[in-house]
Amino acid sequence: MPPQDPQSAPANGIVHCAVPAPLFEALDYAKPTAVEGPLQPGTRVRVPLGRRSVIGVVLSTSQHSDHQDKLRTLTEILDTTPLIDHKLLALLQWAAHYYVYPLGEVVTSGLSPRERRGEPPALTGLAGIELNQRGKGLPEHALRRAPKQALCLRLLQKGPQSFETLEQAGVSRAVVRELIAKHLVMACDIKRPSSIQIKPHLTPTREQATAIAAINQIQRHFSCHLLHGITGSGKTEVYLQCIAHVVERGQQALVLVPEIGLTPQIIQRFEQRFGPVIAVLHSGLADSERDRYWAMARDGSAAIVIGTRSAVFAPLHNPGLIIVDEEHDASFQQQDGFRYSGRDTAVKRAQLLDCPIVLGSATPSLESWYNAVQGRYHLHTLKERAGSALAPSKAVIDIRGLDLHGGLSPTLVSAVKETLAQGQQALLFLNRRGFAPTLMCHDCGWVAGCIHCDARLTLHRKPPSLRCHHCNDRQGLPIKCPDCSSKRLVSEGMGTEQTEMALQSLLPGTRIIRADSDSMTGRHAMTHLALELESGEPCVVLGTQLITKGHHFPKVTCVGVIDADSLLFSPDFRGEERLLQLLTQVAGRAGRATLPGRVFIQTRHAEHPIIKQVLERPYGEVATQILETRLNAALPPSGALAVMRCDSRQLQQGMDFLASVVKSYQPQQCRLIGPLPAAMARRAGLFRCHLIIHGKQRSFVLQAARELAKRAVHSNTPQGLRWSMDIDPAESI
Ligand code: ADP
Ligand code: ZN
Ligand code: ZN
Repeated sequence: MPPQDPQSAPANGIVHCAVPAPLFEALDYAKPTAVEGPLQPGTRVRVPLGRRSVIGVVLSTSQHSDHQDKLRTLTEILDTTPLIDHKLLALLQWAAHYYVYPLGEVVTSGLSPRERRGEPPALTGLAGIELNQRGKGLPEHALRRAPKQALCLRLLQKGPQSFETLEQAGVSRAVVRELIAKHLVMACDIKRPSSIQIKPHLTPTREQATAIAAINQIQRHFSCHLLHGITGSGKTEVYLQCIAHVVERGQQALVLVPEIGLTPQIIQRFEQRFGPVIAVLHSGLADSERDRYWAMARDGSAAIVIGTRSAVFAPLHNPGLIIVDEEHDASFQQQDGFRYSGRDTAVKRAQLLDCPIVLGSATPSLESWYNAVQGRYHLHTLKERAGSALAPSKAVIDIRGLDLHGGLSPTLVSAVKETLAQGQQALLFLNRRGFAPTLMCHDCGWVAGCIHCDARLTLHRKPPSLRCHHCNDRQGLPIKCPDCSSKRLVSEGMGTEQTEMALQSLLPGTRIIRADSDSMTGRHAMTHLALELESGEPCVVLGTQLITKGHHFPKVTCVGVIDADSLLFSPDFRGEERLLQLLTQVAGRAGRATLPGRVFIQTRHAEHPIIKQVLERPYGEVATQILETRLNAALPPSGALAVMRCDSRQLQQGMDFLASVVKSYQPQQCRLIGPLPAAMARRAGLFRCHLIIHGKQRSFVLQAARELAKRAVHSNTPQGLRWSMDIDPAESI
């Protein structure tokens, strides 16, 4: 051991901190001598880092450091009590380790935006005002010429009042502003009423009752439940009743939903049952809103926290239950930066908290299905739709050789006409927005491609343009072919704009609603669509993936998949699973209550096994069959995968970098595939390549991933090159 320098010797202890920097390990700092007593894990400190001063989070303290001789001293202690409790801290440290991502950057996921900046947590009460010293000393008659102000004063003499109560009593914000200007009142934070009024619930069906009883029975201990219920079978009602059970005894529930599932309607449904005790966390919030909800989750003033993926790291005061709705949804997977699975992290969190977790879906992921089949998860099935709805009839339309209008076969068109004639609604699914996916020269075969990506440009009519759906690049329409100057430019294939035009001419006078990401802009677009359909007016909705999630439309009785072929033959190993989920979800939109539904799938591959089976067999059976082929190939959920990804300015540079990282490395019990260019090697101007780590056992794959990350950290990274590790990747192409 080197002789210690008495100047920098840690007379007062060492603090191990996570700091926001691309480091896989904690940094050690000396505690200032003036500070007495231990520093608690989960508190924030200000520390020097290079020439900067940053906010770190204390992980632990000790008397020893491996870097004893070059320790720097932390400069400020920001909290007296931890902002991240020890169980959340353990989860964050687990996530950084498991997903092979820099520790400090993961740990800040447990803080709200203002907390990351070093500011105190937001106030959690209701915003309001109270009298200041001057206001308290004011004589009765002082404001008699301003009756509204006088009224406000009288209310405040009883105590602080929230803006809400003042408004209900007829005192507007303008009146409050005048009192503030007169220096009579000041802003304050008013504690929320703590008792929760839970509204009565629906009488559960027999299947719902069984699931609720089973979940409630194992309360207070870890158990994982898979709630497999077809669309509209009442899964949300099961969640609500389990949450009621937890909230009644003073505990909190964390509910994770897919990006698109967090609509005002779902929040309203929770609020109707539980009142205004809900914190909502999603990416569309202003920082100040996020700050406040985050603090409400932490101090328990929110009994229920509903959020998208990143809410899995929200602090919770007294958690008793976690729910992941539509657990198969791809939006639970973070696809860049800190790549993690919100669902898997939620399961880990429930384990650390020792509380139950419910994963719900009409089309469970094969990961969860496998766990249920193996008995690790409790499986609860809701086979019937709540309120006596009938199962839809399903048919394949073989479109080989048929004359199509805007992609629509005569059979599908007449089914839609019948539906409208009966005063009902139809929903058509087409997975491509725009007018046509390709613009081509009729004379020389030139195809309009993106200059930044290995991708074709999509032709749009509204407004006329060529757009790249991968990098959002946009250009005007060419008048002639850039290669041969011919003016005969033609479109190929079908997009939603084109089918919309065809529908308008085939069904004159019918309301046609196009629902894709071009037409559905703004957070409330989906809600408006749902409300419009709720009215029951006959219409046709033509939509992309957007309409397969989040909402079901109870008055739709006819559903058509316009082009199932565009979904077939995916190069990814999850292709069949995704196809099955998508077709099942689309089909699930048809027929509710007393109106029987019909589903049509158009294809040129009517004999494709998944397409046939979606029609004939229940989801679970087909899923089990796909599962078998995965298990035979030792692919997830049985084997494990990790992908080391690399972005660089030149493809060769990335390939060389990955090759140098794996050079002379012999992983134990797994194989390395690559380096290979990604399926779309160039995207938004960057070249992408990767290296796949595949093994039968997860522990060996993780070990290899960590070793390769370590080598990458210690190798020379060329300028502009970025690499990352993707554990349990959503895609391996
Ligand atoms: P899911 O979440 O599975 O799609 P929901 O919970 O939204 O299903 O239920 C679908 C519809 O059925 C909703 O309108 C809901 O109010 C109704 N519903 C659910 N459970 C019951 C029940 N036990 N009795 C009557 N109606 C129910
Ligand atoms: Zn040409
Ligand atoms: Zn592009």
